[in-house]
Amino acid sequence: MEELGISESVEKVLISQDDLQRRIRELGQEISYDYAGKTPLFVGILKGAFIFLSDLIRNISIPCHLDFMQVSSYGGGTDSSGIVKILKDLDISVEGRNVIIVEDIVDTGITMKHLLELLSARKPASLSVCTLLDKKERREVDVDLDYVGFEIPNAFVVGYGLDYAEYYRNLPFIGVLRPSVYETR
Ligand code: 5GP
Repeated sequence: MEELGISESVEKVLISQDDLQRRIRELGQEISYDYAGKTPLFVGILKGAFIFLSDLIRNISIPCHLDFMQVSSYGGGTDSSGIVKILKDLDISVEGRNVIIVEDIVDTGITMKHLLELLSARKPASLSVCTLLDKKERREVDVDLDYVGFEIPNAFVVGYGLDYAEYYRNLPFIGVLRPSVYETR
């Protein structure tokens, strides 16, 4: 597949660059306050969360560590398969650490539930979740989200790290993908 022009493939801008930066600044302040005196370990979930994480930690004013994990749940389409596979595990041990999972979006909740089970079994001192986007109405399993950037409606979104078939991650805003882009392929 080839990427179409932005105006042909993105129906509308859901969250602008300015709104993203403003909210991420608030989240950074909130997390820095909540974890004062600690050195939290931010666990970014690749690939989607990489831009959010890089902006978030630049708004963290306390010492922190960083690591990445990659899991797969979507096989390139727009619907969750319900299968979660670890593609890349952490380099740093989470035992005794204050871990914050940083995710781009929580949709059905299946991926996050699986990640929480996996990481809590490794005995962190604490475990919390920070997600940029929350598609609450699509939830199939219950998960506690400690920090949420934006609650969004049920639409397939791209940009700011989020892809469709690996395209659109570079858009500086969150946009709604035109259904015709994935319906005709
Ligand atoms: P869940 O397991 O909660 O259903 O799905 C989580 C994963 O599905 C996210 O990490 C993301 O990769 C993908 N996902 C869910 N909704 C969207 C969406 O609207 N846009 C994109 N690009 N990915 C999504």
